[in-house]
Amino acid sequence: MSLLAKQTEKVRNYINGVWVASSSGREEEVFNPATGEVIAYVPISSREELDAAVQAAAEAFHSWKRVAVPRRARYFFQYQQLLVQHWNELAELITLENGKSLEEALGEVQRGIECVEFASGIPTLMMGSQLPDIATGIESGMYRYPLGVIGGIAPFNFPMMVPCWMFPLAVACGNTFVLKPSERTPLLMNRLAELFAEAGFPPGVLNVVHGAHDVVGGLLEHDEVKAISFVGSQPVAEYVYKQGTAHGKRVQALAGAKNHSIVLQDADLGNAVKNIIAAAFGSAGERCMACSVVVVQETIADELVRRLLEAADGLKIGDGREAGVFLGPVIRQSNKDRTLAYIEAGVQEKAELVRDGRKDAAAGGKGYFLGPTIFDRVEPGMTIWRDEIFAPLLSVVRVKDLAEAINVTNQSPFANGACIYTDSAKAVREFREEIDAGMLGVNLGVPAPMAFFPFSGYKKSFYGDLHANGRDGVEFYTRKKMITARY
Ligand code: NAD
Repeated sequence: MSLLAKQTEKVRNYINGVWVASSSGREEEVFNPATGEVIAYVPISSREELDAAVQAAAEAFHSWKRVAVPRRARYFFQYQQLLVQHWNELAELITLENGKSLEEALGEVQRGIECVEFASGIPTLMMGSQLPDIATGIESGMYRYPLGVIGGIAPFNFPMMVPCWMFPLAVACGNTFVLKPSERTPLLMNRLAELFAEAGFPPGVLNVVHGAHDVVGGLLEHDEVKAISFVGSQPVAEYVYKQGTAHGKRVQALAGAKNHSIVLQDADLGNAVKNIIAAAFGSAGERCMACSVVVVQETIADELVRRLLEAADGLKIGDGREAGVFLGPVIRQSNKDRTLAYIEAGVQEKAELVRDGRKDAAAGGKGYFLGPTIFDRVEPGMTIWRDEIFAPLLSVVRVKDLAEAINVTNQSPFANGACIYTDSAKAVREFREEIDAGMLGVNLGVPAPMAFFPFSGYKKSFYGDLHANGRDGVEFYTRKKMITARY
């Protein structure tokens, strides 16, 4: 049976180690964004179904937390091997439901596997600390413990990597997990759960409940859920943070972005263009680390724009499963329509539309395609400069010098990433010290940190204090107990 035929079955929930059909009576179509075909039906599960999953996770927690930490790590060694064995299949599934090119999808699988590898180091990561003599004959020690049931809520743009930021580390720490994938990309997470079961993890340790607002509300309000990891758009992140903390939970909510790349006149322009094009138009611009705004020193602006246009014209647009395709579709027709409205807004606000991706839209037939779109002479304050568009649309802002470039970048309400292209160490230092964003890149386009470092944003790009991944992730998924003893 082909992958597609298999997946047109109704998507099931995974609760307590059993694949169960939803009884909510509500479902949505899942589309292949490259063709517009329906590839599956995802249930919009009810609050009761979510409650059953939380209950299963709460029961599994009693025994899972007592599994010795090195043994928990060994489950993850097994899981890592299975993910590596299924690398191509997982990537094909990502391309099918998300639309990104197969090459990008293969890279995403790698990023997910790296999270599992990081989680396998849990014996070292979980260690506490001691001081044998805090006073004569008295010692003190800190021990780390899991929290209980953790809820995860994921976006559509990284169906594998983002869930892998969440459940592997949380489960390795001794917690149990209930994950709600995006209803637009529900298939990959089910495959991850199947392989998780194959790796031998006990039932109830990881549960998957598909749905939308009701499932999210249930996770935010349920007493048994101790912490929430959310990744998605800014308004929903803010809502999840406020609701979750109001219900006494720890919340880390990673939100939207509008990443600026500064290009100074001493930059290697060939390298800058290659990296900006990949960062702006790779994954159809649907990356929280995408480059959305280029802030270029005016002395080289004409030359940079000329080269960006030339490179953008050379990108192959089409179904991500075809060889050589760089730019796939956006996720849904509604996302395409929203982007078309932003192009209109840019024109209305008198930015200069130097490349109109609408002309390439027909290239992909019934899919939700849009070619690379570039606006020059964009001013801070314009709608296309301010809002996260999440599509292959790049704005160019011209500035006098580095100080003005930093000022423009720091005016953004978002603060996920920022990059600089320059040959000057002094400029890099000033950029590093002055930029108000969490993830910085120097002469490269997508400075996404690896799993052993935190994934940090500020301002409207992040709600919470401990970030995803790295030691922050371990801190987030554990609580500490102090013991002070005299013998
Ligand atoms: P989204 O906010 O629409 O959805 C994210 C999740 O929230 C989904 O599971 C969805 O079902 C749920 N959701 C949506 N609306 C809801 C509502 N009203 N009430 C309760 N739950 C709701 O985001 P998306 O479009 O799937 O993903 C793209 C967004 O994610 C972009 O803004 C992107 O920048 C962001 N993102 C951020 C990071 C980061 O690290 N900061 C990483 C990846 C994606």
